[in-house]
Amino acid sequence: MIELIRRLRRERSLSPDEFRVLLSEYDETDLKAINREAKEVAQHVFGNKIYIRGLIEIGNRCRNDCYYCGIRRSNRHVERYRLNNDTILKCCRQGYVLGFRTFVLQGGEENEATDEEMTILIKNIRTEFPDVAVTLSLGEKSPMSYKRFFQAGASRYLLRHETHNSAHYHFLHPESMSLANRLHCLNNLKSIGFQTGTGIMVGSPGQTVDNLVEDILFISEFRPQMIGIGPFLPHRDTPFAQYPPGSMEQTLLLLSIFRLMHPHALIPSTTALATLSPDGRERGILAGANVVMPNLSPMNERGKYSLYDNKAFTGAEAAEGLHQLRRSLEKIGYEIDYGRGDYSAPNEYN
Ligand code: SAM
Repeated sequence: MIELIRRLRRERSLSPDEFRVLLSEYDETDLKAINREAKEVAQHVFGNKIYIRGLIEIGNRCRNDCYYCGIRRSNRHVERYRLNNDTILKCCRQGYVLGFRTFVLQGGEENEATDEEMTILIKNIRTEFPDVAVTLSLGEKSPMSYKRFFQAGASRYLLRHETHNSAHYHFLHPESMSLANRLHCLNNLKSIGFQTGTGIMVGSPGQTVDNLVEDILFISEFRPQMIGIGPFLPHRDTPFAQYPPGSMEQTLLLLSIFRLMHPHALIPSTTALATLSPDGRERGILAGANVVMPNLSPMNERGKYSLYDNKAFTGAEAAEGLHQLRRSLEKIGYEIDYGRGDYSAPNEYN
């Protein structure tokens, strides 16, 4: 196993069968070894710096009905909200003073009627803060909408593919959604020029080792600039309420696999990982992650953006808890990088 891990680091790939072995036969020692190798690779590229992104959850209205997600359309127990542009700009102002130079605007999937407002918002943010990056995570849109957002000044877009297996995709989503459209959107984003992020939930219901191998191979081929992976966590008001959460170990294993395969990728240690375990954020960083995304949303709305049960949004997961984040990073030998943190890699990686 150690030889496989070393080869993955050296060659940045393995055969599908070898990935299958790694994913199904690793033990505690192997996990420690791959986490250490991945941490070394991340440190080689990024030093001991961790990028921060201010996450603004702009609204929880959603036309989609993903079976895993707490803000799915059919959940009648969630109180819906949508921040207006002034409120979002206020969040950006607070974040800017705290030192954030990337704002991530994430929300449920709205219809195209809201695109005009979004375009105005992006322009306003970029005019007031020319040195910040705007990242969007607003789901599936038409190529025209993506283009308008890009022209308005957004430069990054996060859209997890969730699974690259069509049958598994259908297990996780209603009939109205398709893997083909998700991949079409990802290709559009990339060709428009967005730094594009994709990824999966680890341990999502129905996920098999073979599915994970397919995800690894897809991500290897797509070469996203950002890779978002976190554990699946159940939400009480969804059809998947009774499924167990994804495991810490498997999430850390996948984080390390992606780091070894994509040395320059921006890989967050996710809120879901920090929710799964109090030391999840730090363990993610020690497994090769190099980004954290503290919550910059207005405090009174945070509880409503409930994707899964007990979602963390205070302390080091909150923008106002940056000092706490700084201290917890220091304890493991890291410090915050207050730069924009754009993707940059030698040509051979692009
Ligand atoms: N609507 C946009 C989209 O789907 O890309 C952005 C918001 S969506 C809530 C953001 C991400 O949350 C999804 O890509 C999904 O992977 C994650 N998510 C949703 N429900 C989750 C759950 N129960 N456990 C872990 N992650 C979850």
